[in-house]
Amino acid sequence: MSLPTPPARSDSARAIADAVRSGETTAADTVAAALGRIDDTNPRLNAFIDIFHQRASEQAKAIDTRVASGEGKNLPLAGVPIALKDNICLGWGRTTCASRMLEDYRSPFTATAAQRLINAGAIVVGKANLDEFAMGASGEHSVFGASKNPWDESRTCGGSSSGSACAVAAGLVPIALGSDTGGSIRQPASHTGTVGFKPTYGRVSRWGLVAFASSLDQIGPFATSVDDAALVYAIIAGTDPNDLTSSARSVDDQGDPLATTDAAAPDSQPLRIGVPRFAQSGGNHPAVDGALKAATAALANAGAEIVEVDLPHADHAIAAYYLIAPAEASSNLARFDGVRYGHRAESPADLEDLFVRSRTEGFGPEVRRRIMLGTHILSSGYYDAYYLTALKARRLIAGDYTRLLEGEDDASRCDALLMPPAPGPAFKLGDKLDDPLALYLEDIYTAGVSLAGLPAITIPAITSEVDGVTLPTGVQLVGAHWQEAKLLRLARVLEQSLPA
Ligand code: GLN
Repeated sequence: MSLPTPPARSDSARAIADAVRSGETTAADTVAAALGRIDDTNPRLNAFIDIFHQRASEQAKAIDTRVASGEGKNLPLAGVPIALKDNICLGWGRTTCASRMLEDYRSPFTATAAQRLINAGAIVVGKANLDEFAMGASGEHSVFGASKNPWDESRTCGGSSSGSACAVAAGLVPIALGSDTGGSIRQPASHTGTVGFKPTYGRVSRWGLVAFASSLDQIGPFATSVDDAALVYAIIAGTDPNDLTSSARSVDDQGDPLATTDAAAPDSQPLRIGVPRFAQSGGNHPAVDGALKAATAALANAGAEIVEVDLPHADHAIAAYYLIAPAEASSNLARFDGVRYGHRAESPADLEDLFVRSRTEGFGPEVRRRIMLGTHILSSGYYDAYYLTALKARRLIAGDYTRLLEGEDDASRCDALLMPPAPGPAFKLGDKLDDPLALYLEDIYTAGVSLAGLPAITIPAITSEVDGVTLPTGVQLVGAHWQEAKLLRLARVLEQSLPA
């Protein structure tokens, strides 16, 4: 589907790689053009924290040499410029997590997902902005300032993968990696009119992703089409000896998840799409209801059967997520103590003073809030009441989803669930900044899916007038565990069925 300008669209990653491989263009020219766009636009949009002019140009030339020698002919991402969310480690430049704590941190190694893209011929042109340590839903918790939405620069891009979404939406790069713990790929994709895909928990290695909540974190792509998202997914998915939670299951339809054109199995029954009642409960912005309606109609036109379904525990997802994620974060972030990593306070009086001041100076207010919340609910006397209760709720929430998507009964099982990625479109910078709960509510439709560990993808559904500006609104399709290939095919059916 095509979207109105602004923003501009870059060529697809598939098209760029084809052109570089066939010699129609060079990686050097492609990367120079991307860097030019970034230099022009980034001072306004603030999508990138760091831009790698020299390194990217050198790597592009190396790809051209390999293509010329015939050795680069099979690189699926030959010469494709990409951005990495700056909580994904790279063996050069800084990995800041948009935090003062890691302002000067240089990772000695490159994350597996990033390395796989580089091995496939991609060129990392820069590190993308984010909410500090990926905690947030607007990009405003970045120590480098928020990224601005290319559709309306007075609005946020959503978050926490704000810069990745911004860079793809503005046509600066065709693909970017983000991370999604409770919605941080799917919500910004909706707010910027991009495709954002969170694979099943464990499908993509987390090695080199700075940990936020380890039982939820997952890396995934932003792209301008389902095709490109599927291409990136096929490259980054699969087991990694460095991440013991990465699954050893084979990645279905290895190579190209879209190889089969039918959404379901070739002999398929009509597709059954469940629309949860709680996602239509009246609290949504009209643009969100409009997007859901358009997607429902498009899928029905494509021959799918649409059924209303219940997720009885879905109302508890935000509460459970905001206990479990901060609990894990408080433990993961304990390593930033001013001794081993990160910011160190000047002239401490003693060790205690070093810890306290380094952490107080290094972490921003939202990260400190999460650490305090997490430490509190894990403390003795509160652990059972809060943390254990949240784990029980997580089980019930996950059970609701898996019953619908993975139940035994063929007649009632859904091929996917259709729901909004967020309760509203992109909101104004500053609007929710003083109200943490309002920001947490952005995750109402994504956090439960994360607690269940399911794969889910946001696809742009409509554009509409909101307070005098044209804004995109996406929809989210949620699939069964490990069935990314089917989910991506279904997403492509939806993408092609929506009015252009
Ligand atoms: N908005 C959620 C949070 O602040 C999700 C963040 C994420 O997925 N990284 O925790």
